[in-house]
Amino acid sequence: MPEMDIGIIGMAVMGSNLALNMADHGFKVAAYNRTANLTREVIKNTPHKNLEGFYSMQEFLHSLKSPRRVMLMIKAGKPVDSVIEELIPQLDKGDIVIDGGNSFFEDTIRRYSYLKEKGINYFGVGISGGEKGARFGPSIMPGGNKDLYKHVQPVFEAISAHVGEEPCCTYIGDNGAGHYVKMVHNGIEYADMQLIAETYLLLRHVGGFDNKKLSEIFHEWNKGELHSYLIGITADIFAENDENNQDGQLVDKILDSAGQKGTGRWTSIQALKQGVDISMITAACNTRVLSNLREERKKASAEIKAPVYDKKMSDSFIEEVRKSLYAAKIIAYAQGFSLYNSASKEYGWDLDFGKIASIFRAGCIIQAEFLNKITEAYGKNKNLPNLMFDKFFLENINENQSSLRNIICLAINKGIPVPALSNALQYLDAHRSPQIGANLIQAQRDYFGAHTYERTDKEGVFHHEWQEHYK
Ligand code: NAP
Repeated sequence: MPEMDIGIIGMAVMGSNLALNMADHGFKVAAYNRTANLTREVIKNTPHKNLEGFYSMQEFLHSLKSPRRVMLMIKAGKPVDSVIEELIPQLDKGDIVIDGGNSFFEDTIRRYSYLKEKGINYFGVGISGGEKGARFGPSIMPGGNKDLYKHVQPVFEAISAHVGEEPCCTYIGDNGAGHYVKMVHNGIEYADMQLIAETYLLLRHVGGFDNKKLSEIFHEWNKGELHSYLIGITADIFAENDENNQDGQLVDKILDSAGQKGTGRWTSIQALKQGVDISMITAACNTRVLSNLREERKKASAEIKAPVYDKKMSDSFIEEVRKSLYAAKIIAYAQGFSLYNSASKEYGWDLDFGKIASIFRAGCIIQAEFLNKITEAYGKNKNLPNLMFDKFFLENINENQSSLRNIICLAINKGIPVPALSNALQYLDAHRSPQIGANLIQAQRDYFGAHTYERTDKEGVFHHEWQEHYK
């Protein structure tokens, strides 16, 4: 008699830790990995009464209760398609395949329809929190058929992180919605990290603070409105000594060059396709790209003169940097949630933005105090066109924007790159400014390409025969 509640294919970091998390919550978990040795290792190193290893796909599938719940925790991309092909002939109608990896949401939409035609149900589930989250409680974003969600809900809600009694897991929407929300979550994470990195550069190169002081500053910030996982780990990082160097901290020995995986870049590409401005996330991607041009940067730093600017920093410098970070963080989230807003309409997902913010409050990398305010904002007005217009965020932007302007001016004069902070201000000013310059652009387009324009004083579409005044 099949007795396993759920099966996981893929026993690498994420799959094995999720399996143990499920086992801890009383679910009987069948474990399978393409390379059998990995399953053997997991079972040997972390034995659990609710976890059983299987070494053939057939036995693995036979062990599962009906409808079978088969979760893929494998490398995203082609491997997911090939495992699905392997599964199809061995599954029954009504069985459920769950992809918990970082799959591209358009692949999830395609796979969802493909399996639906065969009577197999498919969930694309975003999971955030890395290894630790997977083991002890991640933030979980399931997408798929709403009526069938009840078949996976108990497992996901049990294993997710919790805030009080509330699970950091909610049904997101049809087909690729879960993976879409996870993708943008990662984009927001890029912007959040980039902003923190820019404040670090300012505190270090304008403020002249050493790592001990930086650690204290971030620790202090973490007690207030910036309270978040990322600020907390940043305070820890500056305090960490380099074990190879008694006098210094590890952070100074780490190469100034960051990788960028798929999700941040996907978010930017997708935003351009949807026509949504998420310039801060894109700035964060671009900065990582530039960080990898190590030779070019070395040459440029030797050959391009640094600005000379001797003005002393003010007594309120640290506080101004903090306020800038807070204002810019609000704008980063406003951009990310604008993208959700657009996707919700474009893909018909009816996303619940307040609920999405609430499941980010624990388990995931962007967990922060601040997310409660986003939930409250959408609780008051679920049709809020942009988070910046919520009373709380508006007040905070207005209170902190002069600090953001001052700090960006200082960074520019000192030659310190602050692309995410600058893009936050550009986004703000592009919204706020009564004129954005598009009237001139429309005139140019009409001049060279007869693209037509609309007028401020009457309805309709117009073309003008522009004269060459200067030959
Ligand atoms: P991973 O390194 O992304 O992938 C390794 C796993 O994929 C192994 O189990 C491997 O099996 C399997 N695999 C690769 N190609 C395969 C194929 N053609 N057929 C069958 N299996 C194949 O593993 P991970 O880091 O645990 O991540 C799993 C998923 O979660 C990925 O989509 C990842 O992007 C996502 N994710 C990861 C994190 C994280 O912090 N690591 C966080 C969130 C989400 P073999 O052992 O046989 O090679």
